[in-house]
Amino acid sequence: MYRITNLTTLSCLILFQTWLLKADKPNILFIFTDDHAPHAIGAYNGWLKSVKPTPVIDKLAKEGMVFVNSFCTNSICGPSRAVIQTGKHSHKNGFMNNGNTFDWNQQTFPKLLQKAGYQTAIYGKSHLKGEPLGYDDWAVLPGQGLYYNPDIIFPEGRKRIEGYCTDVVTDLAVEWLNDKRSNDKPFMLMVQHKAPHRNWMPALRHLSLYDDIDIPEPPTLFDDWKDNAPGARVQELEIDRHMDLNYDLFVDLTPNFNQPPSQKRQDRSAWHNMKRMSAEQLKAWRDHYTPRDKAFHEAKLSGKELVRWKFQRYAKNYLRCVKGVDESVDRLQKELKKLGLDKETIVIYSSDQGFYIGDHGWYDKRWMYEESLKMPLIVKWPGVVRAGSRNTDLVQNLDYAQTFLEIAGAPQPKDMQGLSLVPLLKGEAPKDWRKEVYYHYYEYPSVHMIPRHYGIRTKRYKLMHFYQFGNEWEMYDLKTDPDELTNIYGNKKVEKVQKSLTNRLKNLREDYEDDSDVSIRPDYIQLYRKKS
Ligand code: CA
Repeated sequence: MYRITNLTTLSCLILFQTWLLKADKPNILFIFTDDHAPHAIGAYNGWLKSVKPTPVIDKLAKEGMVFVNSFCTNSICGPSRAVIQTGKHSHKNGFMNNGNTFDWNQQTFPKLLQKAGYQTAIYGKSHLKGEPLGYDDWAVLPGQGLYYNPDIIFPEGRKRIEGYCTDVVTDLAVEWLNDKRSNDKPFMLMVQHKAPHRNWMPALRHLSLYDDIDIPEPPTLFDDWKDNAPGARVQELEIDRHMDLNYDLFVDLTPNFNQPPSQKRQDRSAWHNMKRMSAEQLKAWRDHYTPRDKAFHEAKLSGKELVRWKFQRYAKNYLRCVKGVDESVDRLQKELKKLGLDKETIVIYSSDQGFYIGDHGWYDKRWMYEESLKMPLIVKWPGVVRAGSRNTDLVQNLDYAQTFLEIAGAPQPKDMQGLSLVPLLKGEAPKDWRKEVYYHYYEYPSVHMIPRHYGIRTKRYKLMHFYQFGNEWEMYDLKTDPDELTNIYGNKKVEKVQKSLTNRLKNLREDYEDDSDVSIRPDYIQLYRKKS
């Protein structure tokens, strides 16, 4: 009898300890997408807000905190993820551009969360190559992944899963919440979608969405980059000259998809994606696009009208992919609620960088200009974050690792380079919060031909240095010129500000120990000329 009571007491004690551990340490559901610009989220009030592209994410924002000054450190997919894993800038974590392979043996936040008693899992797009370390459970897309019937790499091997990628990844996460989640540990679940990455293939159920409206045009659709450094004129991401009618916008591609792209510079990922569809999916796709392509040919558009048409098809497909993501955010939250986990789970929505949705006449990312520098960050933390709050402090993906660690009550390693966002989430206003952010993009020569550059952004100003083609600088006053159309570098009126920014940028480079090669490479501009 005594033994039974003793055992009962012991199990009660264990249960109490488990409860205490879980009460102290909330779960984290981290929903992360690829290339979802803040201005394509209703809650950010950008020029696309009238389209209401994200009702679910907007509701999350109403229940949580929106970070309006949220920036990446290097605007490209893999590097952004590496920064998040390590809490270190690209030059420190070694993943400076998409061609690199991430060193999974280095210190990462999920490994530290595991030590702090968390169960960790990642599903969807990792984009860091290699088996993800620091995760109890995982299943990731190989490389960029495919939109339809994607292959997924599981610990036990690679498997094709039928369906639309955003839905497939959501299914895997829902399955994990139900079947693999431990009741004894708090969790970190990362759900990372491929969408809305190029080549912007929506789910079949969303193909006709927005058919009845015109998407508003960005104010800078016909920017001629007169004030930008030469880099802006050697890029290859214009809707006009570089967005491919077939492989980016599916014009006439649907009946001819069995032929690979004929030109070297066309994006083959589109072809791989189309080839992957089942006969039924392909039929639905053809049925949708064929009459619209016919109308397009009959209209014989050219010049600005052609750009406008391409913008409409592109923006609609992009926003249709976003719709799939929005539905995933809904499903995941409903699952949390069903499982009784919603009150003890922090829900975070973010994406690896921003994107040009016709802004400056472009698509893609990479630049330090606002549309691709910004990344969405919305955090719902029941009982902690004030519902409907908007934070204007300067925050970065560099801060996520330390934020997760503080949430878990784990120590923050001294060699991490960010700041925990927990004080901001609690509504505090730390006096010594950073006054500027540092940026450095490295991937040149490469797809889209965006030259390397680094820079500083404060709440009001931005100073950028394009160093490969010469000693080129750009400076913008974001208060008077939010679209960054007038380069004020060298303007006498802002001499003092420019001097101060130059010094602060130099200090930032020293503080973050960025000693990467910033030498002039005149041969690179020749390389571009040869290509074109
Ligand atoms: Ca991306």
